[in-house]
Amino acid sequence: MRLEHIQKTFQKNPTYHSDRCEKHSMEHIIWKQQSICPRCFLEQQDQQLQEQIEGQYKKSQKMKKYNTLYHSSLVSDSTILKATMESYKPTCEEERRNKQIILECIQRYKQGEIFNVILQGLQGTGKSHLAYSILKELNETAEYKISSLFISVEDMLRKIRASFQDKESKYTENYFVDLMSGVDFLVLDDLGAETGAIKTDKKATDFVQRVLYAIGTTRQDKPTILTTNLTGKALFSMYDRKLVSRLLKNPKYIIFKESKDKRISSSPF
Ligand SMILES: [Zn+2]
Repeated sequence: MRLEHIQKTFQKNPTYHSDRCEKHSMEHIIWKQQSICPRCFLEQQDQQLQEQIEGQYKKSQKMKKYNTLYHSSLVSDSTILKATMESYKPTCEEERRNKQIILECIQRYKQGEIFNVILQGLQGTGKSHLAYSILKELNETAEYKISSLFISVEDMLRKIRASFQDKESKYTENYFVDLMSGVDFLVLDDLGAETGAIKTDKKATDFVQRVLYAIGTTRQDKPTILTTNLTGKALFSMYDRKLVSRLLKNPKYIIFKESKDKRISSSPF
């Protein structure tokens, strides 16, 4: 009964014809003047799906890069996260000049130049603000093509130290070294503060040297931006010479020595 029914349908409907796929040697019907081999049809669908998945993967990889700054940074002061070049308001000639130099550095970075920036000077002159702004400017104008990361050295070392006790913690020495080695642009914020008293000649512990050395080694061909209250001389006496030389390789120094402490001058007493 069924077969007859189908036969009738075919006879009644002149648009049904058959064809043979050369690729799959498969007999199939022609439906509304279209010759579609079922296997070719499945292959096409497969390919479309594959392309869709690849597209989504590429997009998610791009978003991952872009989001590194916002998801993986470690800041000691959350107001830094709002910092932009526009919101940095110079209060003296030196700050105006330094802001201009930084804008020039950003342009050079955008052209693919590789060099390090050292923001050195008194506390409270907005070095961290400026360092974060550099990353934000690069991140927001790179069309998801670069990754950047802001790391407060002191907070990072505290987290690594805590991971020695807490075996569940993901913030291990390897975690940070991998993260900081991989990004295109890195800020190491407030180097030297982790040793506590700045004016003592206390040597950084071996563990700190090891972490910084790994970063310096893996970032030879990637820009690193450093902020510190310490002078070059103090850095050299505190850390291994080779380590400092690597971190300060091909540097652009931006020095703040006149600027007043913004935090002190804005306090009411
Ligand atoms: Zn086919």
